[in-house]
Amino acid sequence: MALENSLSTDVLVIGGGMAGAWAALGAVRTGARVTLVDKGYCGTSGVTATAGPGHWWVPPAEREQAVRQRAANAGGLAEAPWMRRIIETTWEHLPTLARHYRFAVDANGHTIFRALRGPEYMKALRAMLNEAGVKVLDHHPALELLRDDQGRVAGAAGLRRVDQQPWRISAGAVVLASGGCAFLSKLLGADNNTGDGLLMAAEVGAELYCQADALYVDPSVFERVQVNADTVRASGLLGVYRRDSGWDEWADDPRYVNQHWRMEEVFARGRELARDGAGGAGGAVGAAQAKA
Ligand SMILES: Cc1cc2nc3c(=O)[nH]c(=O)nc-3n(C[C@H](O)[C@H](O)[C@H](O)COP(=O)(O)OP(=O)(O)OC[C@H]3O[C@@H](n4cnc5c(N)ncnc54)[C@H](O)[C@@H]3O)c2cc1C
Repeated sequence: MALENSLSTDVLVIGGGMAGAWAALGAVRTGARVTLVDKGYCGTSGVTATAGPGHWWVPPAEREQAVRQRAANAGGLAEAPWMRRIIETTWEHLPTLARHYRFAVDANGHTIFRALRGPEYMKALRAMLNEAGVKVLDHHPALELLRDDQGRVAGAAGLRRVDQQPWRISAGAVVLASGGCAFLSKLLGADNNTGDGLLMAAEVGAELYCQADALYVDPSVFERVQVNADTVRASGLLGVYRRDSGWDEWADDPRYVNQHWRMEEVFARGRELARDGAGGAGGAVGAAQAKA
C-alpha cells in the first residue's frame, strides 16, 4: 500500500502519550475526523508508557476544597476553572478505560482510579484510539506548524521515518501534546521529549505560560544541577516555589539533596556553558553546581 505524503483531517494531534491520546478521543467524540502523529510508537514512546501516572481523582463533594488547596499550594500559578475542568473530565472519562484496562481494587473492593500502570495504560489508550477510528501514524515526527493565508495554524509538516519522506497534514485544529522537555534528564521514557511542541508553538508566536516551571535541560548539562538547602533558603522562594512537591521536606533533610531541579539555576548554568563553550561542565555557577 502506498504511503500518503499529504493528508487532510479535522483535528491533528501531535504526540501520542496520555495527553495526546485523550485529546484525540475527546475530539473524535464530537464527530471530528482525527489524525494523531507520534515521533515514536504511540503506546510505548514518551513518559506515560514508563510511568505510573497518578490522576487527580476527586469525588464531587471534595472538589472545591481540593481546588482551593491546590491553588494555595501553587502560589498563584494555577487557575481554578482549569482545575475544575480537569477533575470533572477525569471523573467522567477515566472509567471508560475499563474496557481495555484492569483497574486495581482496594481492600474493600473499591476500584482505584487514582494510580495507573503506565505501560498497560498506554496499551489500553492505543486500543481505544483504534476502536474510535483515530488515524494513528507512528514514527511521524512533526517538525513545524503550517499556517494559512491569515496566519492561523492550519496543520503541520514532518518527516516519515520509515522512508525519510516528508509529510504534510492540513487540519482544522492542531493539538500539541508532544510532552515536556526532559530529554537528557535520564527520566525513563523522556528521550523523545525534546520540547518540539513548545518550540513549534513559539515559532508561530505562542506565548508560553509558566515558562519558569518548564523543564529545560541544556544539552551540555549531563547531570542534575545540584542546589543545596542554603541556596533555596537564600532565594526566598522556599515554601512558594513548588510548595507541594517536596521542597519543604527536602530543604532540611540532607537525604533529598539533588532530588529536584530549580529552573533558575539550570538556566543560569546553561547561560554559563554557552558563554564558556560546551566544555565547561563541573564549575560553580553562583551557588549551583553541575556534578562532574
Ligand atoms: C518514572 C515516572 C514516574 C511518574 N510518576 C507520576 C505520578 O506518580 N503522577 C503523575 O501525575 N505523573 C507522573 N509522572 C509524569 C507523567 O507520567 C507525565 O506527566 C505524563 O505521562 C505526560 O504525558 P504526555 O502525554 O504529556 O507526554 P508523553 O507521555 O511523554 O507523550 C509525549 C509523546 O509525544 C511524542 N512526541 C514528541 N515530540 C514529537 C514530535 N515532534 N512529533 C510527534 N510526536 C512527538 C513522544 O514520542 C511521546 O510519545 C511520572 C513520569 C515518569 C517518567
